[in-house]
Amino acid sequence: MSVLYIPAEDGTYQKVPVTPENTQRYIQSLPLYAEDDDPSFWSQDKIRAMQDEMFKRQMEWVWDGHDYYKRLFAEKGIEQGDLQTIDDLEKLPLTYKKDYMAEPEAFKLKPSEPTLYDWIFEVTYTTGSTTGVPTPFWNTIHDAHGIWQMIFRGIKLGGFPPYARGINLFPLGPVPHIGFFRARDIGMLGLGNMVMTGCTGMTYPEFPVHRSMDYAMDLIENNQAEVWLGIASFIRRLIMKAEEQGRDFSATKHIQALGEACPKGMRDDMRQRLMNMGAEDPFISNSYGFTEMQGAMPECTDFSGCHNPAPNLYFFEVVDEETGKRLPDGERGLLTITHLNRRGTVLLRYVIGDLGALTHETCPYCGRNVERSVIAVGSTYATRTSELVNLKGTLINPEILRDEVANTPGVKEYQIIFTKKDLADPYSADELVVKVAPMEGFDKARLENEVVTKLITAVEMKAKVEFVPMEEIFDPTVALKAYRVLDMRPKDL
Ligand SMILES: [Zn+2]
Repeated sequence: MSVLYIPAEDGTYQKVPVTPENTQRYIQSLPLYAEDDDPSFWSQDKIRAMQDEMFKRQMEWVWDGHDYYKRLFAEKGIEQGDLQTIDDLEKLPLTYKKDYMAEPEAFKLKPSEPTLYDWIFEVTYTTGSTTGVPTPFWNTIHDAHGIWQMIFRGIKLGGFPPYARGINLFPLGPVPHIGFFRARDIGMLGLGNMVMTGCTGMTYPEFPVHRSMDYAMDLIENNQAEVWLGIASFIRRLIMKAEEQGRDFSATKHIQALGEACPKGMRDDMRQRLMNMGAEDPFISNSYGFTEMQGAMPECTDFSGCHNPAPNLYFFEVVDEETGKRLPDGERGLLTITHLNRRGTVLLRYVIGDLGALTHETCPYCGRNVERSVIAVGSTYATRTSELVNLKGTLINPEILRDEVANTPGVKEYQIIFTKKDLADPYSADELVVKVAPMEGFDKARLENEVVTKLITAVEMKAKVEFVPMEEIFDPTVALKAYRVLDMRPKDL
């Protein structure tokens, strides 16, 4: 579980549970944290007043040089001055991924009087688009500084052990991915953190710079990595392989398992395996991140909700799918982000593509007043909207299936498949198949019965369970992450 590491006089650390009082002690014990006027601890009113101010200036920048929104404002009859505060955002239609993907250049600010800080610093790409073509997202030098402040505050919020040895386990992929680069930035901005890099990922034969999973495991073991960052299913597979090899991973304290949901059963499994390798009850955390925020919203403790680490950069809203109206706290809808202080790619009321819920209540664990995403399904925070599927005429949420299967004891890996009784006959009945790689020594008949019963209770559907070897579900040398949900049914019906 998560603890805070408060430096003691003798150079060691005192480990204390996450409470508002201990969070203050932790911050006060580290001068860089103590000196930071961190808005996440301001009152809700003060945070909102600051956001209104930032939004007003961002809108001036948009009127000065944003092709897409200037065109949209003209179409909608929105005039300069109509959008003054965060509450005026509701006058604005939502921006969808398809709008941004169609003309990414039109979302890049072109200021009339650029400075050095408006030069492009780097470009990252959003992946996972339906067309398969990555969309560029530009950061200026100004934006890069804002992102670095967010990373610093995210590390503080996530309660990373100070002066720790870390490892970046994100793949060095063909397309620059925020995970790899922001994990690299942690070495720069964490409190004296050293970050090693696994450099796994798809090889590029002309320049063979990529390395194996075994190399990453050697780094962790030989250099006693304490903090890890990477994609959840990749990290879990690495842990399983290391356990088979009898590695010493006793230094592991804090894992950021990102890029996909990491339900409770998966976290418990990873933690137990690490403890089998000598670790002392490590914290497995699942921050919620995406390219358009250039970072992630961390948890302060297990399942605390994912906090906005940068209320000065981003405003999050949950809106109604049909009307686009802002929904009250706790209600589930489309998650959107509005940029408040960006000079490169700028998005307003941008639909991230996930369903989730927010709360603005003070966090009972760390005492912060920023918004948090709250658990929406089972033990996960958000559901991909595109993943909602119609099975046997019923609209079901695969995240519920994932949560149920992942939290069944004895399931080592799994994959949920929507298929047809006869794939050659598009009109044959839909079928729900769950492929399970069982843990050694588990009674298969009992496991099958448990999965079937759980799914009948959860989605009122009888699943066919198939036992398969682990590699058939996810081979980390080939795929970036495990595909947990597959729809094999013919598309053109
Ligand atoms: Zn908190």
